[in-house]
Amino acid sequence: MNEHRLELADVFRIHEADFLTTWGAMLSPSQKKAIRDIRDCRTAVLGGHVEEYDCGHRVILYNSCRSRSCPKCQAMARAAWLAEREKELLPVPYFHVVFTLPQQIGRLALQNPRQIYSILFRAVSDTLLTIAADPKRLGAAIARANSIFTANSQHWPNPTRSKLCATTAARSNGSSMPRPPSADPNKYSNI
Ligand SMILES: [Zn+2]
Repeated sequence: MNEHRLELADVFRIHEADFLTTWGAMLSPSQKKAIRDIRDCRTAVLGGHVEEYDCGHRVILYNSCRSRSCPKCQAMARAAWLAEREKELLPVPYFHVVFTLPQQIGRLALQNPRQIYSILFRAVSDTLLTIAADPKRLGAAIARANSIFTANSQHWPNPTRSKLCATTAARSNGSSMPRPPSADPNKYSNI
């Protein structure tokens, strides 16, 4: 028999009441629904049906929530999305750059995610492009890929902007870009 691995739904089942006591007032109705969806996905709460095989073996299959926030329901979509992003990457090592919002602004992001994340995305892109374009630094246009996390292991909420930057870039004069002084290809995350 397979050992049960702790999943996000378990965390919500165990800690939902405490979590909502602390953060409930800051969550939107759709965010609260996402918590319920993830908690109840593929359980008797959402109903299901019995499937019987030719051998007579029966299994109960519970319905999925289909929430776009549910890790179970989105596993396939996430894998497809990652495969598509991998096609966009240059065939060079990348390095990871992380920007984290102060806690006070992180709380604001819960109530105004579109505005705060847009500002964060723009500020991070402008910062990296400006620094990289500076002739005293790289003097180049860098390739990059973006993602955002809304929590880390120490604090919640704590929106963090994560960027993967290619270790090569296009300079306006056509010369190749030197690697960063501490660049050790073995330390890069190859993706
Ligand atoms: Zn689900």
